[in-house]
Amino acid sequence: MTTHLPLLTTSSARAYRLCPRYYALTYEQGYRSVHTSDALSFGDLVHRALEQWWLAAQRGDPADAWLSHALSALASEEDPYTRARAHALLVGYHARWSDLTWQGEPLRVLAVEREFVGPLLNPETGAPSRTWLRAGKLDAVVEAGRHGVLVVEHKTTSEDITPGSTYWRRLTMDSQVSNYHVGARLLSYEPSGVLYDVIKKPSLKPQMATPEAQRNYTKPTKANPVPRLYAGQRAEDESPEDYYARILDDIAAPADADKPSGLERYYARAEIVRLAEEEREAAFDVWRTGVEIREARRLQVWPRNVDACHRWQRPCTFFDVCSGAASLDDPTRFRRTDNPHEELHQITARAADVAA
Ligand code: SF4
Repeated sequence: MTTHLPLLTTSSARAYRLCPRYYALTYEQGYRSVHTSDALSFGDLVHRALEQWWLAAQRGDPADAWLSHALSALASEEDPYTRARAHALLVGYHARWSDLTWQGEPLRVLAVEREFVGPLLNPETGAPSRTWLRAGKLDAVVEAGRHGVLVVEHKTTSEDITPGSTYWRRLTMDSQVSNYHVGARLLSYEPSGVLYDVIKKPSLKPQMATPEAQRNYTKPTKANPVPRLYAGQRAEDESPEDYYARILDDIAAPADADKPSGLERYYARAEIVRLAEEEREAAFDVWRTGVEIREARRLQVWPRNVDACHRWQRPCTFFDVCSGAASLDDPTRFRRTDNPHEELHQITARAADVAA
């Protein structure tokens, strides 16, 4: 029997748990902002470049070529400063990880950007859901000697990622880890853990020329007869090349008494394993979310969660709609998509053919 079930992904389940109204607008009705936030687009840009880096590694290209493939993915970025920022980050990534090992074990790349789809199983009975298919995407899968098969998950963040930071403590509790295991099994791998591959986004900003009206000059003296701009003020914008070099200097900085080296501050990896009991709990979480969405859909009731309106220090995409200041029909603000899971390209077309 074939089925035409909708997809439940980690992202869509998380969206529902965050705010049912946000879920409904995004995944039931397919609304998207026509503007992506800077933070999202920078993360996406780096992610696209990493995909090329890992694909080149999987193909067995010479290591030098991995970086050039990754950099070619930046060509579509129009902003030269964003390009420079991502470029420096990728050069550092290559320097940090191109030995392609994990804790002394060589990594063999088994898969890159692989989408998965399959039945969502009731954790109590093992029976497949008649409402949902489970779907998602894995950034990469590697075989790592004594560590076994690991799912690789790339993350970019502005937070401190040095060992012991809050970032890592939070990640060890992330239920997504269990979802990656399920996804890997649907692709016929038996994973022993998830290798988080985290990159810290540079906080250095391009230095722009000081606006004319705000410029201050030193008074001419005998020793310095030509007035000069105050320290910290600039007559010209920093060039993208200089911006790139400044970030790269920070990435290449050696450790000192106060802080770890640049490579340690910008790039970190950790392997996170899940016990069977944790996986079972995560399976109940996903199943329960699926049941709740089905019920909300039946009643056509999608409550708002105002506590989620300013998550991640920025307003929700639909904040102006929910607060009555904008309309979903405004094409300068919103578009509609037929594919509510736009991150999945390969499977949505064949999801309808998956045997239940
Ligand atoms: S603005 Fe707030 S209530 Fe509206 S969808 Fe976003 S998170 Fe939900």
